[in-house]
Amino acid sequence: MSSASSTQSTIASRLAEVRGDIATAAKTCGREPESVKLIAVSKTHPAEAVEEAIAAGQRIFGENRVQEAQGKFPELKECHPDIELHIIGPLQSNKVKDAVAIADCIQSVDREKIARHIAKEMEEQGRTPKLLVQVNTGEEPQKAGIPPAEVADFVKMCRDELGLEIAGLMCIPPLDEEPALHFALLDKLAKTLDLPELSMGMSGDYEKAVQFGATYVRVGTAIFGAREYP
Ligand SMILES: *Cc1c(COP(=O)(O)O)cnc(C)c1O
Repeated sequence: MSSASSTQSTIASRLAEVRGDIATAAKTCGREPESVKLIAVSKTHPAEAVEEAIAAGQRIFGENRVQEAQGKFPELKECHPDIELHIIGPLQSNKVKDAVAIADCIQSVDREKIARHIAKEMEEQGRTPKLLVQVNTGEEPQKAGIPPAEVADFVKMCRDELGLEIAGLMCIPPLDEEPALHFALLDKLAKTLDLPELSMGMSGDYEKAVQFGATYVRVGTAIFGAREYP
């Protein structure tokens, strides 16, 4: 990215920095930089911020809440049909229909009930968003996700019973633990199950996640700045 102009915005320059970090981390461990896809997590930030990122070449975006995504992305997608929306937050049953309608990828398939709803909606709507299973690598009671020991059975159930193709795994490590242990565990699980996509790493640890094999990193704050919650 050597085409910095004098009017380069903050979001554009932060994006360039994150992309540079990812490329460096990838090369350091012998990976192709292109093998890591950057998801710009735009939750709490307005559509204008997403537009700035799009203008800077960003194409994949992540949102936690379906309702918030619905407020921004249908219009953005009309102007920019090539952008991708990933839903990365826990889904409630009553939001599955809208999630399937709007998302290009749902990264947070985290229980059987939701998987069944997704299968039903995909069939009814004729849409096929990419699906990742969220793994609760830290086995935290308050956190969504399938416990590591149950992931194999869950993925098998999704495939065999529901006809869902699972593309990979996603995790959010516990705040107070070394993320590398969790990245290594997720990588091992994905390899065992022959799943190609690995979504891990956020603003504080995306370079480390790249070293452990992340194919998607989900970066919010380092691109859009701090979030303000009302
Ligand atoms: C908010 C969020 C992110 C981005 O977090 P940052 O620390 O701001 O980069 C990534 N993944 C998930 C699931 C999130 O909810």
